[in-house]
Amino acid sequence: MSDSGSIRTRTVILGAAALLVVVGVIFFLVSDSAQKAVSARAAEAVGNYAEKMMEENSIMEVIPVDVRQINDYIFQATGISNTVLISTQEGNVVFDTGLAIQAAKQKRMLEEVAPDQPVTHIILSHSHQDHAGGTPFWAEEGSEIVTHRQFPEEQRYLKQLEPYLYQRNRLLFPWMPESPPEVGFMAYGHVVPTTLVDDYSSLVFEQGGVRFEVLPMPGAEGADNLTLWLPDEKIFFAGDFFGPYFPQFPNIFTMRGEKFRKPIEYIESLNRVLALEPEMVVPSHLDPVVGRERIREEVTRIRDAVQYVHDQVVKGMIEGKTVYQLMDEIHLPPELDLSQKHGKVSWAVRSIWEYYATWFHMESTTELYSVPRSAVYADLVDTAGADRLTQKAQEYIASGKPVHALHVLEVTLESQPNHRAALEARREALEILLARAKAETANSYELRWLNHRIELTNQQLGESRAQ
Ligand SMILES: [Zn+2]
Repeated sequence: MSDSGSIRTRTVILGAAALLVVVGVIFFLVSDSAQKAVSARAAEAVGNYAEKMMEENSIMEVIPVDVRQINDYIFQATGISNTVLISTQEGNVVFDTGLAIQAAKQKRMLEEVAPDQPVTHIILSHSHQDHAGGTPFWAEEGSEIVTHRQFPEEQRYLKQLEPYLYQRNRLLFPWMPESPPEVGFMAYGHVVPTTLVDDYSSLVFEQGGVRFEVLPMPGAEGADNLTLWLPDEKIFFAGDFFGPYFPQFPNIFTMRGEKFRKPIEYIESLNRVLALEPEMVVPSHLDPVVGRERIREEVTRIRDAVQYVHDQVVKGMIEGKTVYQLMDEIHLPPELDLSQKHGKVSWAVRSIWEYYATWFHMESTTELYSVPRSAVYADLVDTAGADRLTQKAQEYIASGKPVHALHVLEVTLESQPNHRAALEARREALEILLARAKAETANSYELRWLNHRIELTNQQLGESRAQ
């Protein structure tokens, strides 16, 4: 995407977000149901506009809102995130409420096909915006809002750290507007659950002849993961329990910068899913997966892959290997091979390492003190010379060692940020890494990070030319 394209896009998205906020302020602070309907229509119009802009400016592939029927009484609204409506004779149960910009349309389209009844339960798989964002549209007087007991705390920390986390997220999800919406139904963090479910327990209820089991599944996305199991239909509503793709190697914990996720708990939860023997998995992203055998095989492979990586890390730690050695050495064996588009094995290695050993790797005394390595980079440049260091980096690039080159260039650019040859070498090293990432795992986080760094380097090169 060109620079002017990206600026235009951001302006448009920002405009749409601002408009949504205004709509939210005008209508949603009044909780009267007629006003709410007006608000939903306005929100839908703004959501359509935001989608159109995101697509026209190729910010991301927007999955359009549509409705499909899972069976006679289960309906799914598709979108960037899905929403499920299970219609019983005694009321409707909603699982996950989607992203705020698509939720109004998802709700309207579900209501066109499903019987018009009160919403008795809203079950939220976790506190992320793309699963809980549409809750204000669905909540009615008397609706039970069911979450994990950790949901309020997860929502609290994500909200409190939003100013920090939002900027990190924006580097990885460049279609996000520049700042988070602060008011109205777009704002994050206002879901108040009425029913809490604890780990290693479940919420079981029967309604209009349908049996529901809300099952916590610790270890997946955050500490507040809930899933829904319909034992008679043998359908497992997974939320993000498997991540966005099925099957995939999971994000043991994410580089976006959230709290630790626990690998062994995740393995136990995968065993819990296997024991259910689902015939259909309905995730909250992308399409349902059908077939008992297939599901059993794939879930087993995910479990065994996580167990394998975990055990290899622990073994390496005991043998005295460094985290870097293990990041380099540990690979999934062919029979456990899984997509790494979302979670990457070498990062899982590091996550598991730090989950057990925490921040102090006992490799250097300097880890203990507040003086970073970069404090002496300028001295190194003075001693060795920026040109000589850049030449060394170029030699590394020529011999296929782009990360070595980046280490050297960090030293050079810390003291001489506009050194052209160093900036050009950095761009080259990043482009090699990008090409490798595309050819190897196509991990979406890695691709977006590298693209961000290349864009930044290009900007600096542009500025250094202007000087
Ligand atoms: Zn999600």
